[in-house]
Amino acid sequence: MAVSLTLHGMHRHSLFLSLFLLVLLALKISAAATSAIQERADRFLALANAGYQALYRVNSEAQWLAVTDVTPEHDAAVEATGKAYAAFNGNPAIITEAQELLAHRKELNDLTVRQLRQLLLNAAEGPMTNPSLVAKRVAGETKQASILNSFVFKLDGKPITANEIDNKLEKSTDLAERKAVWEASKQSGPALKPNLVVLRDLRNGVAKEMKYPDYFSLEVAAYGMTTDEMLKMLEDWMTTLRPLYLQLHTWAKYKLAEKYHQPVPKKIPAHWINNRWAQEWDGLVDAANLDKYFEGRSPEWVIKTAEQFYTGLGFSPLPKTFWERSDLYPLPADSKRKKNTHASCWHIDLENDIRSLQSIEPNSRWFFTAHHELGHGYYFKAYTRPEVPYLLRLGAAPGFHEGIGELISLASSQVPYLQSRGVLPLEFNSDKTAFLLDDALSRAIPFIYFSCGTMPHWEADIYAKNLPADQWNARWWKYVSDFQGVEPPDPRGEEFCDAATKTHINDTPAYYYNYAFATVFKFQLHDYIARKILHQPPQSCNYADKKEVGAWLNGILKKGATEDWRKVLKEATGEDISTRAMLEYFKPLMTWLEEQNKGRQIGWD
Ligand SMILES: [Zn+2]
Repeated sequence: MAVSLTLHGMHRHSLFLSLFLLVLLALKISAAATSAIQERADRFLALANAGYQALYRVNSEAQWLAVTDVTPEHDAAVEATGKAYAAFNGNPAIITEAQELLAHRKELNDLTVRQLRQLLLNAAEGPMTNPSLVAKRVAGETKQASILNSFVFKLDGKPITANEIDNKLEKSTDLAERKAVWEASKQSGPALKPNLVVLRDLRNGVAKEMKYPDYFSLEVAAYGMTTDEMLKMLEDWMTTLRPLYLQLHTWAKYKLAEKYHQPVPKKIPAHWINNRWAQEWDGLVDAANLDKYFEGRSPEWVIKTAEQFYTGLGFSPLPKTFWERSDLYPLPADSKRKKNTHASCWHIDLENDIRSLQSIEPNSRWFFTAHHELGHGYYFKAYTRPEVPYLLRLGAAPGFHEGIGELISLASSQVPYLQSRGVLPLEFNSDKTAFLLDDALSRAIPFIYFSCGTMPHWEADIYAKNLPADQWNARWWKYVSDFQGVEPPDPRGEEFCDAATKTHINDTPAYYYNYAFATVFKFQLHDYIARKILHQPPQSCNYADKKEVGAWLNGILKKGATEDWRKVLKEATGEDISTRAMLEYFKPLMTWLEEQNKGRQIGWD
């Protein structure tokens, strides 16, 4: 540990020095041409970038320690470094200078304007121009997290964990039991609601402090969009996919009615679906399970195969420190150390210290997850270059990072790729419809109606439209019903707060549309790669060892957030964001569903 600290210290100093020299050089070269205001911005941003990177690293190191070795001491350290990081980002001097410089944006180059805007977005989470508001918000967020994390669900008076709830919903075919378990999963809502009402005002207050009308508007500003523009984009996606969704909805409710020996309902009862929020509909297609083909492989093989995916595309191997510092495998059952089991990938210092936290086992889920996580890692690597300032070492829009991970996860699940890696036998004869159906149900189509419909509309209502708290549950179920075609087993009054049972409503507010974006975006990139670069069908293609794919992808990744996301996407694919590629991907499925649903009443109106 001491050695690693010394190394980090040296690294930081040499980095500061080279950054300083670089800035001097840049100023000298362009001195004649640049305005006084541009020079002032350059000096300010040199300092801001250096400070940001230093605090980002200290904060990431503390967080990394806390997730790989969960102890109260490490949690306390995270709180301390988090405060330092927030104090820098929300510093009033930084906010004022960025705002003043942006008032002269016409005299500044584009890269400068983007960095200044990013500084303000970073500041917005805790603007110290109003310290008492920020203190109240931090306390409110901490309180909400502790209610959320310590809540004990009960079934028949006995404690039941969230995992046990999910397992029962995955396996039980007894509808009375399913209903009881589903209702138990909604018990946390009333406990979380009072402080969520307080937090709504505090989050809106912070946004207003930064001159945004409300918290939802502040969050969508990362896309350069207003709340209405974001909701309009999400509506468009839902409208274009609706015929496919109605077909899937109809097929699923007949399948479920048969499974539970019930008459076919209009809307699907929420407790019939495995997922507690009906956001994904898995477990309806048996033929798509590939786990048996991974038996006997080692976890090391899984992660090395994932790296080979990228090196095959022409990317360089992961840095040596990735293998030394990452935490990739499950701990033995008797281990004293506890780690977080949620997979993640980390850009610790915004330079070459990239690490991943996983608990890889040889099965299909971890195979796809390992490919996904390294997508983040290779994104970090690609934009770690001098042309991309630290403040802009992120995805072109918040949904880009997840979208790239998801793209590679999709590519790694294609049958020809799995055959080329020896996972599936060459003579493997896949039931193509079953794979497409499982893709649609578990990862794409119902998810769009939760992530574009229910979640963002409800959150826009509470933040941007100040929906009174005595209408929260009715509004939630109106959206679940209208967008998803799902209904609760019994009416749910305002004594419940079912929205608050979704983690993101509490700890990642006004963010969920990013997952919708990632889904639409991944199909768009995949479509371009399959049809324009590989000349293979998008439903069955193989990226392996295709350097042209890597070169094309790198063109997107290496930009980080230095350009507007719309421009990046258009230049890469020739298209604006849309569901066209998604619709075409699932076209063969649409034909099959129409055949299956012949004579059935489609939809729920
Ligand atoms: Zn991810």
